Amino acid sequence: MQREPSILIIGAGFAGLGMALELQRHGLTNFTILEKAADLGGVWRENTYPGAACDVPSPLYSWSFEPKSDWPRRFSQQRDIHEYMRAVADKHGLPQRIEFGTEVTDAEFDERAGVWRVRTTDGVTHIADILIPAVGQLSRPAMPNLPGIDSFTGAAFHSAEWDHSVELTGKRVACIGTGASAIQYIPRIQPKVAHLTLFQRSAAWVLPKWDTEYSALHHALFKHVPVTRLAERFAIWTYFEVMALALTDIPPIKVPVIALADRHRRTQVPDAELRAKLTPDYAAGCKRGLFSNEYFPALAQDNVHVETNAITEVTPHGIRTADGVEHAVDVIIYGTGFKGTEFLAPMHIYGQGGRKLADEWSAEGARAYLGMSVPGFPNLFMMYGPNTNVGAGSIIYMLESQARYIRQAAQYLGAHPGRFISARAEVEQSWDDWLQHRLKDTPWNFCSSWYRNASGRITNNWPGMTALFRWKTSTFKPSDYDEQQVAR
Ligand code: NAP
Repeated sequence: MQREPSILIIGAGFAGLGMALELQRHGLTNFTILEKAADLGGVWRENTYPGAACDVPSPLYSWSFEPKSDWPRRFSQQRDIHEYMRAVADKHGLPQRIEFGTEVTDAEFDERAGVWRVRTTDGVTHIADILIPAVGQLSRPAMPNLPGIDSFTGAAFHSAEWDHSVELTGKRVACIGTGASAIQYIPRIQPKVAHLTLFQRSAAWVLPKWDTEYSALHHALFKHVPVTRLAERFAIWTYFEVMALALTDIPPIKVPVIALADRHRRTQVPDAELRAKLTPDYAAGCKRGLFSNEYFPALAQDNVHVETNAITEVTPHGIRTADGVEHAVDVIIYGTGFKGTEFLAPMHIYGQGGRKLADEWSAEGARAYLGMSVPGFPNLFMMYGPNTNVGAGSIIYMLESQARYIRQAAQYLGAHPGRFISARAEVEQSWDDWLQHRLKDTPWNFCSSWYRNASGRITNNWPGMTALFRWKTSTFKPSDYDEQQVAR
């Protein structure tokens, strides 16, 4: 390498930290992480709702190069995952490389100097050869656009901004949303509230969760006989890869999975009327499949009502539904998800010729070569960019693929100082054509979810096995990129 490139990473979640670790492991140390919050962790710092946990087992939902042999459970709680991230970051000296409390407002590529100028809320301009936004897809809570939402006089909060100062014991609580977040906190709060009304717009596909507490024997085996740990990781990975095939290439695999979900509902919800409400009316796999053994039993309790009439307004004292009924409640919890299709917002990113990234994406939605590079935006590589989310599998596996690829790009730029590169337009177009072709027949087309934007384009999901993405991103090919040399 002739000159080590300077690198700015935005975000200290799994993506940003993983990127930093990959660079460091390959001797690239000229990087800084800008993090808007006061702590690292991304979604695992933000989401502290009761029962917050990961529904991807930890042996796979962890960095391959930083295995942990003493996870308390197979499906870890938020606290344990956050602690793991902190421990790995500390071990590798990353906190010293993070500028906390530093939020990026905009970034502009300076063609004359071949560098990114990145402005932050403290008024500082950071300069770097390479910019790596690693801000996730699920970092900005989405509130529903309901009439009267501000008129409510009780406590109200979003699941990702859980207000722990609000005591739920003995209260009448409204829960809006039936996604992966809600399914985790509803069973935790149901026993303590006086009454819980679940406002369900769509019933969820729910599968049993094969959780287990790891014993001292597990921990000893995982530590001293690493092949046992690797075997479990491999088994979990294979299971999710088969699920990914069910969503894309081999739909018949879904048949036994649907049967399992149906049986789970039948055995856990004896009441036929309630079971009918909780039976999805859309294709399995369209929204994210959920895993829980506690969700249905919680909904079957006497202090719970599942309301399927649409919400028409929020009133000062509750929620009104389309049948005219006003449901009086003390607290409203919005489990209404995230602005997943608004990639990189609210940052303003300007590429060559002052082109604004949000404008490039305004017609159809976000798109990028390999989910990482956009023509005309040189030396910018996104982590967890467009079409890199998984319908089944571990996002950390996907992020590791991206980090390896971007590290190779950084090494290439280090070997060719003064050059800047962005995906060739025709390469990006044929990538997008291939993606759209593969996405065409996936179940994600048949309902609305955070995987699709308002125009109906699936901007978030990767259509295939994670192994396919790893293969596609295994080697950085300079020929896929337009190159320019900084004028001297
Ligand atoms: P989500 O999956 O987007 O679910 C949002 C829910 O809110 C949906 O049920 C949606 O209904 C409902 N909703 C939105 N607006 C509404 C309105 N106006 N009226 C009634 N209902 C409304 O959000 P999430 O549960 O926070 O999960 C988001 C993603 O975070 C997940 O897909 C997953 O990738 C990630 N996550 C992962 C884990 C994990 O264990 N790994 C845990 C939590 C979250 P519709 O379905 O009808 O739109």
